Amino acid sequence: MLGLPEKIRIEVDYEKCGERGKVDPRECCRCLRVCDPAVLIMHETLSVEQDPIDPQYWRITPVWNSLCTKCMKCVEVCPEGAIRVF
Ligand code: SF4
Ligand code: SF4
Repeated sequence: MLGLPEKIRIEVDYEKCGERGKVDPRECCRCLRVCDPAVLIMHETLSVEQDPIDPQYWRITPVWNSLCTKCMKCVEVCPEGAIRVF
């Protein structure tokens, strides 16, 4: 029986990396560097209080989940254990 392709879920814990975490992704970027299909992006998070010219907070977000090969390199390389792929 044919079914829909399995959806790959990727979660980044922003309590560990991002605006609420102790790591600023701009100073790490390890997950971005090891991901061959470039599933993840780094982007600023904006709120009305923030300066759009110089945003203070950045985060990693998975955007191309369908390209993920589940190689787990991003999970293994993350020093904060902030990424889950399942
Ligand atoms: S598991 Fe591999 S392909 Fe998927 S997001 Fe992580 S590094 Fe990229
Ligand atoms: S490897 Fe982990 S700590 Fe480093 S930028 Fe990616 S999610 Fe953040």
